Amino acid sequence: MILYCVIPCFNESKCLKETTHRLNTKFDSLIKAKKINSRSKIVYIDDGSKDDTWTIIKNFGHRIIGIKLSRNQGHQNALLAGLMYARGKCDAAISMDADLQDDIDAIDNFIDEYNKGAEIVYGVRSERKKDSFFKRNTALAFYKIMNLFGAQTIYNHADYRLMSNRALEELSRFNEVNLFLRGIVPLIGLKTATVKYKRAERFAGESKYPLKKMINFALDGITSFSIKPIRLIFFLGLAVSIVSFLVLAYALIVKLIGQAISGWTFTICSIWLLGGIQMIALGIIGEYIGKIYSEVKARPHYIIEEIKENK
Ligand code: UDP
Ligand code: MG
Repeated sequence: MILYCVIPCFNESKCLKETTHRLNTKFDSLIKAKKINSRSKIVYIDDGSKDDTWTIIKNFGHRIIGIKLSRNQGHQNALLAGLMYARGKCDAAISMDADLQDDIDAIDNFIDEYNKGAEIVYGVRSERKKDSFFKRNTALAFYKIMNLFGAQTIYNHADYRLMSNRALEELSRFNEVNLFLRGIVPLIGLKTATVKYKRAERFAGESKYPLKKMINFALDGITSFSIKPIRLIFFLGLAVSIVSFLVLAYALIVKLIGQAISGWTFTICSIWLLGGIQMIALGIIGEYIGKIYSEVKARPHYIIEEIKENK
């Protein structure tokens, strides 16, 4: 099989040489073991780096392909650029990070699962001892919140995964602009497998995902997968309306026993009733916007796994 490794790089000049060295060694041994074809490639996508990442990529040998994006377009877009480049040229593509946090030795297991028929193989972290307390917990909260809001993601899986050429073809049918690959890939379905690996420390440099980018990433993930937040407004409106009847009763009682200052009953009732009605109205409008949103994304309606035709 022809294997492409797709690696987005943003200011990774400190990591690239070591990553390339280790991947080349891995490729050599895989070729020797006849597990992959010698036309296999490593594809680096320079995501608008400010350092000399691109110069380094350009000077690598024959096995390395470089793609330079016009500016920093974000990890997910850079990854997609690489995967779409690999599509049609390989039998399977593995996406990974440039910082060697994803265990390169897991590639053997990825290929085994592919040979057993899996179209998508997810790399799942068996532990994250090497991550800082902060990173570990924010990352776990990230997965939990995502799932709570209806974006189904694979627990503890980042973007270390193998996709067969067929899975890449299906991925290319997703047209959305707000790209959240971790949520989209599970939507493809087909036969999948998981491979466990230990997450290592970043080889050099620092994380390109500071808290701010991570929060944005999570918000993107949630809002491009679910309209649950809109529904929340609707139900909140419903709740406020129900409460407003209780307030109404309370205000009337206070009025009847003669303790209300003049005008108070009317004001308090209007505030609660109107607030509830307004929120319901927003929720209803939101529902329609949500529908428009999913129409605009124009996702494929179905993905065929198999067709058997009798000749
Ligand atoms: N990356 C990218 N564009 C960005 C941010 C990150 O291409 O805007 C790349 C980065 O070079 C790395 C991968 O995405 O190869 C994952 O980033 P990082 O390792 O910094 O994230 P972390 O592992 O800390 O979550
Ligand atoms: Mg990393």
